[in-house]
Parts: sequence; structure tokens; C-alpha cells
Amino acid sequence: MAGAEVDVVVVGMGPGGEDVGARLARAGLDVVGVDGRLVGGECPYYACVPTKAMIRATDALGEARRVPRLAGASDVTPDWSLVATRIREEITDNWDDAAAVERFENAGGTFVRGWARLTAPREVTVTTPNGKEEVFTARRGVVLNTGTDPAVPPIDGLAETPYWTNRDAVTVGEVPGSLIVLGGGPVGCELAQVFSRFGAAVTIVQHADRLVPADEPEAGELLASSFAEEGITVRTGLSAARVSYETGRFEVKLDNGETITADRMLVAAGRRTDMKALGIGSFGLDDSARGVTVDERMRAADGLWAIGDITGHGAFTHMSMYQARIAAADILDEDDAEIADYRATPRVTFTDPEIGSVGLSEAAARDKGLNVRTGYAPLSGSTRGFIHKVGNGGFIKVVEDADRGVLVGATSAGPTGGEVLGALVVAVHAEVPTKLLRQMIYAYPTFHRTIETALADLH
Ligand SMILES: Cc1cc2nc3c(=O)[nH]c(=O)nc-3n(C[C@H](O)[C@H](O)[C@H](O)COP(=O)(O)OP(=O)(O)OC[C@H]3O[C@@H](n4cnc5c(N)ncnc54)[C@H](O)[C@@H]3O)c2cc1C
Repeated sequence: MAGAEVDVVVVGMGPGGEDVGARLARAGLDVVGVDGRLVGGECPYYACVPTKAMIRATDALGEARRVPRLAGASDVTPDWSLVATRIREEITDNWDDAAAVERFENAGGTFVRGWARLTAPREVTVTTPNGKEEVFTARRGVVLNTGTDPAVPPIDGLAETPYWTNRDAVTVGEVPGSLIVLGGGPVGCELAQVFSRFGAAVTIVQHADRLVPADEPEAGELLASSFAEEGITVRTGLSAARVSYETGRFEVKLDNGETITADRMLVAAGRRTDMKALGIGSFGLDDSARGVTVDERMRAADGLWAIGDITGHGAFTHMSMYQARIAAADILDEDDAEIADYRATPRVTFTDPEIGSVGLSEAAARDKGLNVRTGYAPLSGSTRGFIHKVGNGGFIKVVEDADRGVLVGATSAGPTGGEVLGALVVAVHAEVPTKLLRQMIYAYPTFHRTIETALADLH
């Protein structure tokens, strides 16, 4: 069925989809952007932005509770209503994307609200909220930015309970008395600390043997000890075998036979995609895959580009936007179009302490067969850490390819771990020789000065 002809259809308007759509429209192409939910995607409404607003409030509480050890007395009474109101009114505009739609339309794009599927090469069929179907044929092609949904593991009984995912957690009006968090990755850890600091008794159940398992083991150990100090219970190496809910109480049977209970349960156990429903098979791609394989220009097939979480190069907003820039340049056939380079991908878990990392972990570098040297230095050993005192947990770890004398990975954990990471991202991205990094002047007394100490420890 031939439909309206346009240059490009962007399916899914996550951060990257919104960006690539606007870039192409501003360049004069006829662009249709489609989203079944909200323009901007998960990040501004259900993920990065509201959770970081929660964390801003949580950090203030954490710091206020440190006052007695530094500056006198403090009496903190958390009030979740301030957070809930801020998220609703300031952060998400009551989960309304009118401003984002307007931004896209002002760039020259046409927005269609609805669920899209690929029905033939270069053909997209959209089911709009009133049940009608609109068909678009894309002369240049289709860009996919459909993102991911929260994964809900097939645990006996779980589906029948009123569990939360991140989409519920950012809309709650009240903090529960107790909360079980299933999953100890970045999302689980961030939200566990938020609800704990606002008064919930939190238990994290983590299948892996440590928290944030994609990061260095030292990061997981640091978070576990910080969480223990704050009263968050962390149970690693355990899975939920059965979940039930009755009269306002969740009961979770663990695979060691133990049973734990709480008022609420948050499932933060990864993300899922449905490539079959999206119809990528109509472009000749494997629709049983978890995502879409792309080349260094984000091409997935003739006339098909994909960006964001579904490409499997890191589920981060900055990745989605990086790939959007590359896809746009390729679609516009720009002469000096950039190609993707993932060596220096940064990632930050916004807990307190914050965990920032870039590039390869030590284990990943060794798995690649590199001749690895590592250096480690705790922040507490630095003058800034000594001055900071309470809440100074953290470290710098650097991973060097000793044959080339350059860093291939680094972790910066601590009070401003994500910010200090910036220097390490430059080092990994630009392959600044380690020798040169050791000749730099690091300001005194800063947290980033610990990079110098970690470099001196390379062995
Ligand atoms: C709780 C939480 C916190 C996070 N915090 C951070 C953070 O601090 N920093 C960071 O970098 N990342 C963070 N992330 C990850 C980040 O949210 C995603 O990586 C980011 O949103 C980019 O995703 P995306 O571009 O792939 O698309 P998404 O943002 O997932 O958007 C995809 C869009 O496509 C639409 N869509 C899907 N299928 C269709 C279809 N068939 N038809 C029409 N529309 C469709 C959806 O409605 C959605 O709007 C967090 C994630 C979570 C869950």
C-alpha cells in the first residue's frame, strides 16, 4: 500500500530520534516523526531527568545529615511532596510533550502520534490513537529510535502483583514504608538510595555477586559499604523465586528459601525490546534479535538507520544523541561525516558516591588480550578527601594498555565522580600518552588530583 511520500520517517522520538529528526528537517528534508508516547522518549519523562531531580533532593538530605560531623546540629524532615510536585510541574510538565512537539515542528518536522511498524522496505504504517492507520513511504529511509521498555523477569507470581518499574517510581506521591528493589544495576541502586534517604526501609535483591556489575568490582564494593552505612540492605547472589502480594504487602521468596516482605516492590532488572512487533523483518533483518545491528554510520539495511538503546552500544542518552549526529550526517551525505567510535563511552551512576567510568574495565581489557597495567588511589588518601571527611568514599582507578602507554579505561568514584570523569574521558578518547598525563599539573586540593596518584600507582 503506497502512502504519503516523505524523505525520512523517524520511528520513536527518544532523545536521538528527536535530535536526528530536527537536524534533517532543519536541513530541508521532509521529515515525519512518530511516537506512541511522548516526544523526547524515556529520558525526560521517566528516566534520566526525573530520577536526577529525585537524586538532587536526596543528595541535599544526605549532606544535611552530615552536618553534625562537620558544622553543628541538623534536624532533617524529608518531604516527598516537594519532589513529586517538582517532577510533575517543573520536570515533566505533567508528562506533557507539547513543548517538545512544538520544538520539532518549529524545526520543520511533522509529528504523528501513534505506534509505528515497518510494513515493507521504506514503508511505515502508524496506528494513531483513534485506531486509524496512516502509511508513509520514505524516499531516503527510516530511522529507528524505539528505545526499550522495562524488562519484567518471568518470576512465578510477579506479573499478577502491582510491582513498580521506573515509570511508576517517578510518579509516586508517597514514599512506602518499605521497598524491595529487584536489581542492583545503576537504576536499582539510584532509586534504592532515593527511597531509602526519604525514609523507606530498602532491600536490594541482586542476582549478580555485586552491585553495578558492569563496573569495576571496587565500585560495587564501595557502593555496598556506603549503602550498608546508610541502612540499605543489599542481598547479592540471590534471585527472587516467587512473588506474591496480599493486603498491601509483597512477599518475595528468594532462591535460598528465605522470604522477605515489603510494602512495595520495584523491578529494575534490565530492559527489553520487541523487534518482531516493530517489523524489522520487512527490511530483511532478524526480528528475533534483541536489537538492531548497525555499522559505524548507523546503517542497519538499505534505507534503514537505527540509533539509541536498540543498537546495543550503551543505553545512555548521550549515546542516543551521539549516534543521532552520525546518522544525520550520513543521511545528508555530508563529506566529512563522522563515524562511530565507542572506545571512550562514559557512563555515570548518580548514587552517593557517584560512580563514573569510561572505556574498558580491567577485566574487559584483559579479556581483549591487552598487556594491562592498573593504578588505584582512594580519595580518602588525598588532601581533598581528608578535608571533605564524612562522605569522602571513592577512588580513581586507571587501566592502561602498557604496550601503547595509553589509558583504555578508568573509573572515578566519589562525591563528584561523574564530573571528575571528564578528564579521564579526554585521556581515553584522545589517547593522551600516560607519560604526558603524569607531566600535567593537577590543582590542589581537588578530587581530580587523585588521578595523578592513581597514575603513579600503575603497575
Ligand atoms: C530510571 C532510568 C534512569 C536513567 N538515567 C540515565 C542517565 O542518568 N543518563 C543517561 O545517559 N541515561 C539514562 N538512562 C537511559 C536513558 O533513559 C536511555 O538510554 C535514553 O532514553 C535513550 O533511549 P533511546 O534514544 O533509545 O529511546 P527512548 O528514550 O527509550 O525513547 C524511545 C521512544 O520510542 C517510542 N516508541 C517505541 N516504539 C515505538 C513504535 N513502534 N512506534 C512509535 N513510537 C515508538 C517510545 O514511546 C519512546 O518515546 C536511564 C534509564 C532509566 C530507565
